[in-house]
Amino acid sequence: MKKISVYRPTTIEEAIQILSLHGTEAGVYAGGTDLLIRLKNRLKQAPTYLVDIKKINNLRYIKEDAQGGVRIGALTKLAEMAESDLLARKYPMLVQAVKMISSPELRNASTLGGDLLQEVWCQYLRGGYSCWRNGGYICYGAIGDNSYYHSAMGGRLCYAVYPGDAAPALITLDAKVKLATPSGMKELTVEQLVPGDMMVDGRIQSHVVRFNEILTEVVIPPPRPGFRASFEKLRPRGVWDFAMASTALGLQLRDKTIEDARVVFGGISGKPFRERSVEEFLKGKTLSAELAGQAPSQALRDAAPLKYNATKIDMAKGLLTSGLEKLAAS
Ligand code: SF4
Repeated sequence: MKKISVYRPTTIEEAIQILSLHGTEAGVYAGGTDLLIRLKNRLKQAPTYLVDIKKINNLRYIKEDAQGGVRIGALTKLAEMAESDLLARKYPMLVQAVKMISSPELRNASTLGGDLLQEVWCQYLRGGYSCWRNGGYICYGAIGDNSYYHSAMGGRLCYAVYPGDAAPALITLDAKVKLATPSGMKELTVEQLVPGDMMVDGRIQSHVVRFNEILTEVVIPPPRPGFRASFEKLRPRGVWDFAMASTALGLQLRDKTIEDARVVFGGISGKPFRERSVEEFLKGKTLSAELAGQAPSQALRDAAPLKYNATKIDMAKGLLTSGLEKLAAS
């Protein structure tokens, strides 16, 4: 592992000052389950200066706000979310999604902020290959084994999928995030937070957080009467793994009529893939098993699978059907 220096600030302001001082050589260190592996594998974008934010107070909580929504601190452990009675009562689909992230042991270490902002999990990148994302000139995922962790919806230079499960669930709930920046707090939707690969401060990343910004909080609006949601996930290894495909659904119902819909696929694209054509198709229709069977024909029409991963598109469509069927039957 390369030599690193660790800072332990006690305030957000101090952490931002340190990040600003070292530029892209520094990185935020929270749960460490993603960052430490990047360091161990000597990835080009791994930082030299770690800014350990665990000593900063008030970033680890799950609490109800005055409007009936819920605020979750970025340092909240995934295990704490999985065991939260408040979340289970208000957003059971989010708890369902979090319980499918990794293993119980890793959920005890991983934070919500870390899950949202994690690096992609392409086996070539994690194996230290000099691929395009790691400072080289070739994408091994595009030409090698792309069965599991690569996009079936196209890509540009990198074909790795966005690996997080919390983001698709939170987009379905219309959640927002707060970022501390040198010029004050900034608010984005979760969809804006993770738009897929782009260059930010000279680094390729799936999210838009700049080198001197810190994700502090996720804000979920109050659940509305008649809102129903589900999360489904298929993974190579049943106990713990990243999604080969996942589907987060949110339906706003009046009796059985769908007034509004959110459909977000995970594991198939470089970003949580919000499928607006299915959302439009569902609006105004009556939720039923028959509709569940019709919806996949509207989904993922722009799919562009690689040599070995076309099955991911079938999986995603199958999850869409099963999610709608479950909501129709409940
Ligand atoms: S998919 Fe991305 S991370 Fe994987 S080999 Fe290609 S460029 Fe590297």
